[in-house]
Amino acid sequence: MNLSDQLSLTAKDHLSKPAYIFNGEATDYKTLEGSVTKFASSLESLGYQKGDHVALVVGNTPHFVIGLYGALRLGLTVVPVNPLYTGNELSYILNNGDVKGVITLDVLLEKFEAIDDQLNVKDYIVGEADPQLRDRKSPLENKVHSFMNLVQSGSLEFNRPTLDDDDTAVILYTSGTTGKPKGAMLTHKNLYSNAKDTGNYLQIDENDRVIAALPMFHVFCLTVALNAPLVSGSTVLIVPQFSPETVFNMTREHSATVFAGVPTMYNYLLQYPNEEEKDFSSIRLCISGGASMPVALLEQFEQHFDVQVSEGYGLSEASPVTAFNPLDQPRKAGSIGTDITNVTNKVVDQNGEEVQQGEVGELVVKGPNVMKGYYKMPEETQASIKDGWLYTGDMAQQDDEGYFYIVDRKKDLILVGGYNVYPREVEEVLYSHDNITEVAVIGVPDENLGEAVVAFVVSNNSELTEAELRELSEAQLAKYKQPKQINFLDELPKNTTGKILRRSLRDHVATE
Ligand code: AMP
Repeated sequence: MNLSDQLSLTAKDHLSKPAYIFNGEATDYKTLEGSVTKFASSLESLGYQKGDHVALVVGNTPHFVIGLYGALRLGLTVVPVNPLYTGNELSYILNNGDVKGVITLDVLLEKFEAIDDQLNVKDYIVGEADPQLRDRKSPLENKVHSFMNLVQSGSLEFNRPTLDDDDTAVILYTSGTTGKPKGAMLTHKNLYSNAKDTGNYLQIDENDRVIAALPMFHVFCLTVALNAPLVSGSTVLIVPQFSPETVFNMTREHSATVFAGVPTMYNYLLQYPNEEEKDFSSIRLCISGGASMPVALLEQFEQHFDVQVSEGYGLSEASPVTAFNPLDQPRKAGSIGTDITNVTNKVVDQNGEEVQQGEVGELVVKGPNVMKGYYKMPEETQASIKDGWLYTGDMAQQDDEGYFYIVDRKKDLILVGGYNVYPREVEEVLYSHDNITEVAVIGVPDENLGEAVVAFVVSNNSELTEAELRELSEAQLAKYKQPKQINFLDELPKNTTGKILRRSLRDHVATE
């Protein structure tokens, strides 16, 4: 099975049910299924064939859904890309990903006009997002096709190619900690199995209305808030851009039942000042992932909104979900939960041997969701998949009930005078202060100790002093773990997915 064929089956059972709602307008499964087939047939008429690569450079709009499923139906490989990327970032990914066609929006076309001569792109398929741009002439005119025309003019009598389980469906470029981004190749089986297994584990079914407020080009939203709901016949509530106000409005207007977000989103929702609008009473489940959820935030959020927050874990290379707090057993705050169906997580030492329960080691993962490899990077692939186990680069431990706890990323470990300090432990302590709304801890070079701990905090009380936070950390942390410096910021730097950018914080210290 694969996502495209599954959509056809789901559509048969749910013809007139909304598959998604965007800008207040519902599109039912029958219409979506028809648009996907017609778009696939138009791509074929443009000369695309199974195995060709197209980039999907759009925000959270229906173009993403039709573009993705339409291209998959023809057997193309889709490269979803962050539309906020600069020309340099785009041209690296499009060239490395051997992209022939780009599906994008009118508001983004100027970016491609500036870099087209560096690319091997033959077509730009452009969706309308801004009516004011309708009559604008583009220098790429002879390569531009209207997305809407392709959907309208396509044929429903299209001969669908067979999609093989192990064919690459999507290449996801991961942000990459060193060097250039790497393209994780996810197969039809990878994407389908993870959407199905995650959906089952979180009991997402046809009665759900799932808020998609994370960017769809990121694998968390792609699988959890788009593919899993479409596999199960539920409705996706597309949020073009996250804001607490939009999420509360969507929840109220459409009686949303599931919300998926990264911890910073939960923080924004909790801090939202208009108490009357802060209503999550229709929501049965909040899903957190992408970064560790501070325990204090999770508990405050659950208490305020009277809703369960289930934390899980994943990474692009695993399509992404590997573990979640189960719904039928107690959720454990601070834990990423247990293995989802069909996936095995394990904690290993430097030799790849499983460690004793409770010991810290690297988290490795096996299952139908694990990528085929990095595109055109055999060495990097070999380094990350050994004996079928994907090495995540995250340090973790497991308790006696099978629950996993992410200690931190391997590369974020701080070595202070030979002692290990995991930023998360220090962050949890600072976060426990009532006036702290965001925290990030990093290691910076130190002449005497090798590295020193530096904290960045955001507070909702301008009178909070560094001395008060020092007192807190002195009471709860061994001396070598206590921050040498605590910096107050108005906001922490984050990427478009809402993950905190530790790299920018390191640069901040370096320039200071
Ligand atoms: P990405 O490939 O962009 O999805 O990023 C994957 C990384 O996000 C993982 O390797 C982890 O470092 C981090 N991550 C995801 N979920 C969690 C979680 N629940 N707790 C801690 N880190 C997480």
